[in-house]
Amino acid sequence: MFNLLKEKIENLPEEKRAAYNLAEIKRAFDFAEKAHRGQKRKSQDDYIIHPLSTALKIIDFGLLDNASIMAALLHDVPEDTQYSLNDIEKNFNKEIRFLVEGITKLGQIKYRGREERKLNIRNMIIAMAGDVRVILIKLADRYHNMETLDYLPPEKQKRIALETLEIYAPLAYRLGMGRVAGNLEDLAFPYVYPEEFNWLIKNLKERRKPLTKYLEGVIPLIKKRLEENEIYPLKIYYRVKHYYSLYKKLLNYDLNFERVYDIVALRIILQNKEECYQTLGIIHKYWPPLPGKIKDYIALPKPNGYQGLHTTVFCENKKKVEFQILTEEMYQKNEFGIACHWYYKEVARKKVKGKTIPPEEELRLFNQLREWKETFLKSPKKETSKLIESFKIDLLKDRIFVLTPKGEAIDLPKGATPVDFAYAIHTEIGDHCFAAKVDGKLVPLSYQLHSGEVVEIITQKKKKPSKSWLKFVKTSLAKRRIKNLLLKEKI
Ligand code: MN
Repeated sequence: MFNLLKEKIENLPEEKRAAYNLAEIKRAFDFAEKAHRGQKRKSQDDYIIHPLSTALKIIDFGLLDNASIMAALLHDVPEDTQYSLNDIEKNFNKEIRFLVEGITKLGQIKYRGREERKLNIRNMIIAMAGDVRVILIKLADRYHNMETLDYLPPEKQKRIALETLEIYAPLAYRLGMGRVAGNLEDLAFPYVYPEEFNWLIKNLKERRKPLTKYLEGVIPLIKKRLEENEIYPLKIYYRVKHYYSLYKKLLNYDLNFERVYDIVALRIILQNKEECYQTLGIIHKYWPPLPGKIKDYIALPKPNGYQGLHTTVFCENKKKVEFQILTEEMYQKNEFGIACHWYYKEVARKKVKGKTIPPEEELRLFNQLREWKETFLKSPKKETSKLIESFKIDLLKDRIFVLTPKGEAIDLPKGATPVDFAYAIHTEIGDHCFAAKVDGKLVPLSYQLHSGEVVEIITQKKKKPSKSWLKFVKTSLAKRRIKNLLLKEKI
């Protein structure tokens, strides 16, 4: 089975292959294979198929990092086998342990469709991951689980698909991984909204065929016109919009297909930026553009880093067609996002074949990471419920994210205690808070919580808030409630 991974790596172009150490990867594979031996997936496959598939996806993402492949292979070991994180550190190293630990922690977070928790969870993932590679491996893990979701009981299918749609696909999107985000959404769509999915498929069937046929006729025309201007595109093809993103767009247009022009769009891949702008000009020379539909995402990339020129024109027979014009490099980054940046950052830095990383590339990576965090904190507006009113840009420094035993993320200020946690869940639980367990161990009520800890509150009906609690609670909610109750007691 290891051959799947070996062949995939051996078939990479030489400069990329250089990022991987096959002997070390084999060692991680053998360890995982032995640890999971005898375990089966719900599909009846040997369990090792899952970590192996996760590792293969890491290569598909273009993440040229050896530790990530090894961590992908080992990611379910501490959770599901007799081997612990310490065993992983002993057999491998601190870095692999750190990555696997991150993925294991993220695995404890569960989203059950409560709107106000959505932003919490996304922030928590960022805060807890600590390293973007942890999120990338988690995305690969989730991707394979989505591909094999059919084998799970319906209730679990729905929860996992919803979590994918609301948490993981947006994460992939923010990381600039357009292809992964789109595929995750399309895998989840039929489980979360089966009726809407069926409606879309039925309506698309009759529409897409004539559309693609028409575009096949346009391709030679545009090719000829570009060649007359000595522009030789690397590729011209039509791309079909992902189902879920099409459905979301239709929702904004009264479910009217006639008003969405990019169900199928023509994509032109060119050598460089200059050719992109020239091509835009040539297209507009023959086919007039629709006003307001010309988008220059090269000069002004989308917040997630997406680049390209878009225009919708009245094409042959006055049909409206969207063109997407971009370079090969832009294409790669649009599809694979931050995983590609990792390549520039890590591999190029190691001076593969004497080439060093251009400093602007590295800068762009950090800019994107920063932007990505900021976008998360600012949007979307709808989620700005009471809970997150006080969110600031420096939120990740001042807040911690802990989990309920059911895996729900609770957002608290730094230094918060189990009592704050109890009040954040429910005032009743706060009022009768008797003892607390953190990661299964009893702790004092004044214990300062850390991100990623699982907190369990033990309540007792007769227990009442004590004045001493005021000395250590951090949230205003808890303070107010305790004071109020103490006042009542006096009267
Ligand atoms: Mn897994």
